[in-house]
Amino acid sequence: MKLLLILPDNKRSYWGGVSNSGKAGFARLCLTTIAGLTPEDWEVEIHDARVKAIDYNVRADLVGITGLTSEMPRAFEIADGFRNAGHTVVMGGVHVSALPEEALEHCDAVVIGEAELVWAGLLEDFKRGKLKERYRAELCDMKNMAIPSRVLLDRSMYGSGFNTLQATRGCPFNCDYCTVTSFFGNKFRVRPSDEVIAEVKDLNTNKFFFMDDNIVGRPKYAKELFEKLIPLQLSWGSQASITIAKDPELLKLYARSGGKYAFIGFESLSQKNLEKMKKGWNSAESYSESVKKIQKAGISIVSSFVFGLDEDDANVFQNTYDFIIKNNINAAQYHILTPLPGTVTYKEMESEGRITDRDWSRYHTGEVVFKPRGMSAEELLDGYHRIFRKTYSIQNILKRCIGDPRGLSFRLGANLSYRKKALKMPRTPGF
Ligand code: SF4
Repeated sequence: MKLLLILPDNKRSYWGGVSNSGKAGFARLCLTTIAGLTPEDWEVEIHDARVKAIDYNVRADLVGITGLTSEMPRAFEIADGFRNAGHTVVMGGVHVSALPEEALEHCDAVVIGEAELVWAGLLEDFKRGKLKERYRAELCDMKNMAIPSRVLLDRSMYGSGFNTLQATRGCPFNCDYCTVTSFFGNKFRVRPSDEVIAEVKDLNTNKFFFMDDNIVGRPKYAKELFEKLIPLQLSWGSQASITIAKDPELLKLYARSGGKYAFIGFESLSQKNLEKMKKGWNSAESYSESVKKIQKAGISIVSSFVFGLDEDDANVFQNTYDFIIKNNINAAQYHILTPLPGTVTYKEMESEGRITDRDWSRYHTGEVVFKPRGMSAEELLDGYHRIFRKTYSIQNILKRCIGDPRGLSFRLGANLSYRKKALKMPRTPGF
């Protein structure tokens, strides 16, 4: 039996696309993980549609497709194509789990939730001709996890030289606009640290990225893991909450274990916005102090900001830009608030009649799909383009990159990559 696993593309998105050389940034973990869960008597092929065209006549008994919300229209198109060619198609992932009925219009079966505890059973059902429409999974306990089948990836298709892996799932927090807790549950789960270390030792590069939503979500576990990473002398990054700045020992171990950079969700400089989105534990007042502590430990910061929150008006772009420059934040990701299915934000906006566009391909956080409160949709989009372009001027990049030699290559790489995105955005006059 042959299983074909497909990751769709979305050319509208600024995130996760392919470079001019035709390479994607890095391989996500989703399909290699499913491949790792697949019994050995199956042949598995991974097809990343971002880098290679789809062939609907390829030999396959079963086709599996997953993707982000913004990739769903393309995912459904691909699913329809394979079904028209006579294949059986299974879909899963965060979006499909939130709206399984929508996916079932394009596929034969859906996995709702994590695949770990149902995948082998689904394949067995398929073999026996007894595939069900819905496989609703419980959360796994993260012990003896299947190792992602990275050998199935064609490395020449990816520009980054790092591997990805996962040590934890979920997040102890539950911000309104985020899908993490609705998908992974309220319980923050961790893998035994020795199992993570064994996987790290098997990687064929000395650089990796923890795909965790908050690697420091349980500080005691994070410290234990980081201690064990120190002797390996590797280089890594992850997403982390700004609460890391409150724990000097955690900061020190993050850096000593090779943690060169952290993606941190600041989201807003307005405490009112933070409170409303249930992220009031982020204290906007102490952001500057936290930034200093993290950077002093030798960790570069990629900050994330969301625009279009209810307390935002058109001044939010200038204020955020000033904050980035004043605090010499190493890199910044900007996102337009996007009501992703499965989130509280989605439900609220839906009930208020504020969702203006249901084309999922626009749900990549670079377009406006709802009615903002404090500015017009046009002002929101213009401001987003302007702050992106201005943050990534050559002059600003140089200012951010010189100084601390620690993590210089990462800072430079990240800034140049964000500049490429900024240059794709329409040019509008300054602030
Ligand atoms: S802290 Fe980050 S990962 Fe956790 S719920 Fe909030 S946005 Fe999601």
